[in-house]
Amino acid sequence: MSAAPVHARPVPGGRIAYVDGRYVPHAAASVHVEDRGLQFADSIYEVCAVLDGRLMDEEGHLDRLERSLAALAINMPMGRQPLRAVMRETIRRNRLKNGMLYLQVTRGSHKRDHPMPAAHRSTLIMTARPINIAAVEKRRLDGIAVVTAPDIRWGRCDIKTTGLLANVMAKTHARKAGAFEAWLIDGHGFVTEGASTNAWIVTEEGVLVTRHLSPNILAGVTRLGVLNALALEGFNAIEERAFTLEEAYAAREAFVTSASGGVLPVISIDGRRVGEGAPGAATRRIHRLYAEFARAAAESSAVCASQLQQRPIL
Ligand code: PLP
Repeated sequence: MSAAPVHARPVPGGRIAYVDGRYVPHAAASVHVEDRGLQFADSIYEVCAVLDGRLMDEEGHLDRLERSLAALAINMPMGRQPLRAVMRETIRRNRLKNGMLYLQVTRGSHKRDHPMPAAHRSTLIMTARPINIAAVEKRRLDGIAVVTAPDIRWGRCDIKTTGLLANVMAKTHARKAGAFEAWLIDGHGFVTEGASTNAWIVTEEGVLVTRHLSPNILAGVTRLGVLNALALEGFNAIEERAFTLEEAYAAREAFVTSASGGVLPVISIDGRRVGEGAPGAATRRIHRLYAEFARAAAESSAVCASQLQQRPIL
């Protein structure tokens, strides 16, 4: 009887991962035990939505990937153009119509030692998985509950590293409390962002507020898409500034943004109703404007996955 590899667990049929130049069955995909991504979270990631076979906000995610890698002096594993090709090939091999494409770049494997090695060869990992669109749309229709947690993360949250334990703890706290997301509160009582989303409120006066960019939050690609979509509409009642938890409790509407959910209404914070306790009109409109904007951008710039060459790249 042949023993199955210990990491081989059942996964949804036919999933393929890309690891360091090879497309391999997801269940058999692995990195070296000394990989610095595993040892030190010395590693950057991105998550892009795929809708109707199209990559959403692709350039924004690649821009941020390059920024994060540059901040840690990790080499891009390949140029942007070949990277785009691997992204599309991973989507194609997974027959992904609606889902998430995950990219991770680590500093590669080295004998375990804290200082960054003088030279390195990055490891590139890519996986793809379908999402349940109906579940996301139900969340958009019903709205989500949020609870708060202290922001105990490090001082460079603008770098999208895989060092996510504080986020994982906050999200677990939220799920245990029956909420979908945790909003993180800094030492001065201001909301920084969600555990895996950016946080927004609409004040009683109808002003849209989201925290300004700084090393304390991740520059969300969806956040930027929303701001761009609203600018196109000539909507300028927007303040990029820190807001307090008290302001959030008193908000007329609140929502979160992320690649995986787009714009999702928040209907309660720490068990207190936001506004009427139902998704608000402004949030619905902002979602529609962002979705149209992102789809139009994806259609005009990128090659749709279904038009891709059917020949394997490697
Ligand atoms: N903030 C944090 C901490 C995140 O982890 C994420 C997404 O993973 C976001 C914000 C939203 O970013 P994006 O819109 O690029 O998905």
